[in-house]
Parts: sequence; structure tokens; C-alpha cells
Amino acid sequence: MRLEQHAAIGSAVALPLAFYSPAMAAALLASTVLIDVDHLLFYVALTRRVPTSPRAAVADYQRWKYYGPRVMIFHNYETMIAVGLCAWATNGILVAVLGGVLLHMLLDQVPGFLRHRFLRVRTLVGDVARYREYTRAVRAGREEDFMVSYRDSWWGHLRQSMTENEARGVSSACGILGTHPERPLRAGDGGRWGAWW
Ligand SMILES: [Zn+2]
Repeated sequence: MRLEQHAAIGSAVALPLAFYSPAMAAALLASTVLIDVDHLLFYVALTRRVPTSPRAAVADYQRWKYYGPRVMIFHNYETMIAVGLCAWATNGILVAVLGGVLLHMLLDQVPGFLRHRFLRVRTLVGDVARYREYTRAVRAGREEDFMVSYRDSWWGHLRQSMTENEARGVSSACGILGTHPERPLRAGDGGRWGAWW
């Protein structure tokens, strides 16, 4: 889900909470929005440059995100568990932070699954394992093959999950059909997309 949608829905939830505790409302809104900072951190780590224009950064990131493995340091189950444990132990403002985190994850997870049959939020351990596959392929000079295989795996996942027309609609909205057009699209094993971890 987009940042402005998270901000709008977070505000709608925080507003009634503000009558009870303005600090908790602010904490919920801040946490539900700031989780998305990890997209930017991943972009900086991937490209090794700080974006000069937000628009260019978003465009670059969008191109990457459907084809390549990502390491999302906040969008993961471990973050939810860690924040949950801290909230349970302190029972203070972190309860509102946990509320913001859970709201964000739910809003990313549900629409993503309905549209793509793909769970966007997964484990950090799984993210790192998938990313290591990518870095190994790059070191072996097989980056393009890896990315084509990732694309085909996505296509295979969608083809198992929906009709061909629906899969084409989703894929063209993601821009995936335009990547490596010289390499024919083949439905690969979509298992890595269907995995919960
Ligand atoms: Zn998000």
C-alpha cells in the first residue's frame, strides 16, 4: 500500500485515539508511516546512492521490487514479534507503536494477497536468504539469468493463482512483462512467491 494511504488510514485510526491520549495517537501514526522507511534504506543499499529526487527513487524502486528479492528490515514478522514483546513488557506507549505496526502490516498484506496472491510481509531471515541467492548470482556473472528466472517464477505463480487474462493484467500493471522482452516468458516454479516466509 502507498505511503499516503497508510498516512490517511493511520490518521483515521489515530484521531479517535487522540481524545484518550494524544501521545499514543502520535506514536501510532508515526509508526504506521515510518515503517516504509525500510524501502528507502533498501534502495540506498542496493544502488549505493542517496536519491536526489524522490520521484526517480520511487521509479527505480518500483522497477526492482517485483522482480528482485528485497531485504525489508521493518516489514517482517520478526519486527512484529519484537515490538509486541517490548509492548507487553513495558505496557506504555509501545502498545500504540505496536498498533501502528500491525495496522501497516495488515494494510500491506491483505490488498497484496487479494491482487497478487502474494504475501508481501515475510520473515527477515527469508528475505536475507533470497537476497543472498541474488548476490551469489551477481558474483558468478549470472545476474540477468537470475532476474529472468525471478520474472518467470512470478509469472508461474500468477498463472497457478488466476486466469491467464488476470495474470497478464497484474503483470503489466507491475511492469514485469516489459523486462527482458528478448527472453521469452516462461511459467517457472512459482513456489518462492507463494511461500509465507
Ligand atoms: Zn509497507
